[in-house]
Amino acid sequence: MARRSGFPGRRAVWYFGSFPTYMAYVIAEPCIGTKDSACVDACPVDCIHPKKDDARFAEAEMLYIDPVECIDCGACVPVCPVSAIFALDDLPEKWAGFTEKNAAFFAR
Ligand code: SF4
Repeated sequence: MARRSGFPGRRAVWYFGSFPTYMAYVIAEPCIGTKDSACVDACPVDCIHPKKDDARFAEAEMLYIDPVECIDCGACVPVCPVSAIFALDDLPEKWAGFTEKNAAFFAR
C-alpha cells in the first residue's frame, strides 16, 4: 500500500517501499471503460499502460501513467477523447484518489 508523504513542493510524492515517486500526470475516471489508447501512441517515452497487446489490457478498467517514467511533457493530454488526463495540479479534487491508483498499477 502506498503512503503519501509530507514532502514539500509542487508535486505529491508516494512511497513504495523506500522509493519516492513524484506524480506528474494522472489518468482519472473518464478513462474507465474507455481505454482509447490515443495517449499511448502520443507518449514519447512509452509510459502509459497497459497497451492493447499487453495481456493485462482486457482486464484493466483503465490506463495508467507510470510516474517514474513520465517526463512531464503533456503530449497525452490533448489527444484523450474523454479528457481523462490531468497534470497533478489540475486534477479535480473528486478524482484525487486516481493519483495513488495510477502509481499503484506500477507497484505490483
Ligand atoms: Fe507520456 Fe508525456 Fe503524458 Fe507523461 S505527460 S504520460 S511522458 S505523454
